[in-house]
Amino acid sequence: MIPFLDLKRVNKPHQENIQRAMRRVAESGWFVLGREVEQFEMSFAHYCQTRHCIGVANGLDALTLTLKAWELPPGSEVIIASNAYIAGVLAVRQAGLTPVLVEPELTTYNLDPLRIEAAITSQTRVILCVHLYGRCCDMEPINVLAATYGLRVLTDAAQAHGATYNNIRPGGLADAAGWSFYPTKNLGALGDAGAVTTNDGDLADRLRYWRNYGSGQKYYNQYVGQNSRLDELQAAILSEKLTRLDAENDRRRQLARRYLTELNPDKLTLPPADAIDQDVWHLFVVRHPDRTRLISYLQQRGIGTDVHYPIPPHRQQAFPEWHGLALPISEQLHREVVSLPLNPTLTDDEVSYIIDTINDIPAYLSVRVN
Ligand SMILES: *Cc1c(COP(=O)(O)O)cnc(C)c1O
Repeated sequence: MIPFLDLKRVNKPHQENIQRAMRRVAESGWFVLGREVEQFEMSFAHYCQTRHCIGVANGLDALTLTLKAWELPPGSEVIIASNAYIAGVLAVRQAGLTPVLVEPELTTYNLDPLRIEAAITSQTRVILCVHLYGRCCDMEPINVLAATYGLRVLTDAAQAHGATYNNIRPGGLADAAGWSFYPTKNLGALGDAGAVTTNDGDLADRLRYWRNYGSGQKYYNQYVGQNSRLDELQAAILSEKLTRLDAENDRRRQLARRYLTELNPDKLTLPPADAIDQDVWHLFVVRHPDRTRLISYLQQRGIGTDVHYPIPPHRQQAFPEWHGLALPISEQLHREVVSLPLNPTLTDDEVSYIIDTINDIPAYLSVRVN
């Protein structure tokens, strides 16, 4: 049995370092926003090649707090991909702003730069782009549009720790990047954690207030802030795990390269192979017109899969105002995507078995989908 993801196995190579970090914090007597957080913020800012990193409680807060800290006029519009994970949409709404859904590219699953301009109005203030599944969005045209129209760019980098675009990491590609260190991410904590990276010193200062009750000095409140503090335990664990992130991403790339070269593209639609070394392969997502059947075929042969994500934001119960929208590319993606196992602890034999099993897919399942 090859589970889709086994976090016990993924964390095993880190066990000694994790134990050491936990002991260090337990004995320190200081548990929220302290030296471990500062240390991790410095290391992660350095890793992201950005000037500032502000630790927060989770990835959703990283996005929400950044949008709040920009203090945009209420109802300002934020352009966001219509297929992505729901966090971006929730962050925009929680900041009192209006999400405007724009379709992704069918090939890369990322926001389509060619569709952005038509969605820009006099109310647009931000482009929020998600580097989905570990691949950076096409940032050059996005940043050109942002400069032309005076918009800010926020990237949701929760799936892209270590990814690059023109040799630049996500933090340096936009005004700010929001990160999640949820346990399943490429850099995962042992609980909830998140961060914002930015080169904007003013935004960094504000975020340090916003994450802590809007307060810089205890009991003095400048903003209507939140409690979104990062705790010392998670920060200490993340500092330890960060030291192996590049090696783990390299292993992910090796496995992705095998999938891309050895899987028979007549059996399912593969992701594009043009950015293997820039992508960090948080997920290896294929498409198949009969997803349910493919999943049960693999399940019967002991291969776990997952779906990221089954329902597009505009079809969610939480957003009845969008139920009339037709977004055919997103709908097709959400209908067809399946994620295959891919993590740094997957063995070569396991990958061979997954590849052979898929290449043996019987005729009734092998509908060409490209
Ligand atoms: C995980 C994730 C988030 C949110 O992270 P949390 O820490 O769970 O709030 C946001 N966006 C994307 C694309 C994610 O994958």
